[in-house]
Amino acid sequence: MKKLSFKKGMLPMDGLDFSEGRASSQERVLEQFTPREAVIPMLQHFGTPAALAVQVDTMVSIGQMIGKPTSLLSAPVHASISGIVTEISKICLPSGITCDAVHIRNDLKRRMDHSVQKRNSPESLAPKELRRLLLYSGIVGMGGEGFPTSAKCNRAIQAEADTLLVNGLQSEPYLHCDVHLLREHADRVIQGAAALSGVCRTRKIVFCLQDNRPQEIDVMKTAVERFRDLYADRELSVAVFKSRFPQGYEKLLIQAMYHVELNTDQYSEDTVGAVIFNVSTCAAFWDMVERNLPCTSRVITIAGDRMSGHNVLVPIGTLVSELLERIPGVSTCNRIVLGGALTGVAIRDMNTPVLKTTTGITLIKNEPPPPTACLHCGECVDACPAGLIPYLCKRLIDTKDKIALSYENIDQCISCGACSYVCPAGIDLSVQIARAAHKVRNGGIRT
Ligand code: SF4
Ligand code: SF4
Repeated sequence: MKKLSFKKGMLPMDGLDFSEGRASSQERVLEQFTPREAVIPMLQHFGTPAALAVQVDTMVSIGQMIGKPTSLLSAPVHASISGIVTEISKICLPSGITCDAVHIRNDLKRRMDHSVQKRNSPESLAPKELRRLLLYSGIVGMGGEGFPTSAKCNRAIQAEADTLLVNGLQSEPYLHCDVHLLREHADRVIQGAAALSGVCRTRKIVFCLQDNRPQEIDVMKTAVERFRDLYADRELSVAVFKSRFPQGYEKLLIQAMYHVELNTDQYSEDTVGAVIFNVSTCAAFWDMVERNLPCTSRVITIAGDRMSGHNVLVPIGTLVSELLERIPGVSTCNRIVLGGALTGVAIRDMNTPVLKTTTGITLIKNEPPPPTACLHCGECVDACPAGLIPYLCKRLIDTKDKIALSYENIDQCISCGACSYVCPAGIDLSVQIARAAHKVRNGGIRT
């Protein structure tokens, strides 16, 4: 089978820990975490926040709607544990955005909302009904993108996209929650993808995996064969990509698959007729279709540079502080990152909640080397998948040379962190470049 890839990036031989050798990535049994409290923000997605639908002292059950969508770019929010609403506060998320959050004290009874019930023949639901369920589910891009999945489906329908790509290319060091789902819950992933293809009206479904996951490739190929008859009106297949960071980025997935380079303002649905959903997103939608269970929990990886990791099923809103209580040596961490080591956000406030978009918590103990002056080695240029010259971009940002910067296409930066990782001088290039790119995209830096 031909293996697909994009240009540049980093290979496992560049020293990245891609987790495939770790026993934890093979873990069969998930721990299901039961928190004492959940703090659930009304904005966990790209777009407008949900409006509060409960007040203090309301008793809530799992799956009950506590936040109503306010626009087409909004998503409902549901209680992830059963208990009593003790407080409604303003919370500042790691992204810097402030929104309302509902605090629920767990009554430890795991009471499910009356609407959460198994459905008969879920695979034969009509597209209109699937679309209604998707809107209700509150699912957003769970690979970290956070775009409301129902809005993405609308884009695919408008563009008459033909192909649904399931992104199982988790290439970030230490993270393996999606890999776990592919191996242990292949049926959920396939049926969720088929249900999403019913909403988007795509004919083809392609499951995208990296070649460093042979076991998961075998599992998916076998499962695809099993479902061929049930979804006979769709073309199911598995595509294998070379193991390379950051292959999981949508833009690079499209580049590897279709040899088309998307600009940051172009969508794959319009350009190549393909819509992309993450593995966790597909599995979450099947929970909604099969059991009417909205997005109330997710699998995350807790791992680090000096520990073997675990995949844990966590109710949305669980506080990082509570999750890490039983992990020894947390106080000696150099950085605690929400998400992956390269692309995640370092957090200081341990009362940060797990969101629908949280893929993991990475504990970094190793001290970064003290930065020195640029060696002009070009490693960052070789690594940058966006084709930028990171050392030059940083110099132009430092010298505030906006005119020269305007020729460097800095807005194409995808915040992958590869340039910082490979830099032998220990220069943190990516944070500054990504911030400048964000400003350019939002018109903040005039060129
Ligand atoms: S963070 Fe931006 S500049 Fe650095 S390697 Fe990634 S895309 Fe290139
Ligand atoms: S990798 Fe670091 S030292 Fe090498 S050119 Fe880039 S910024 Fe300079």
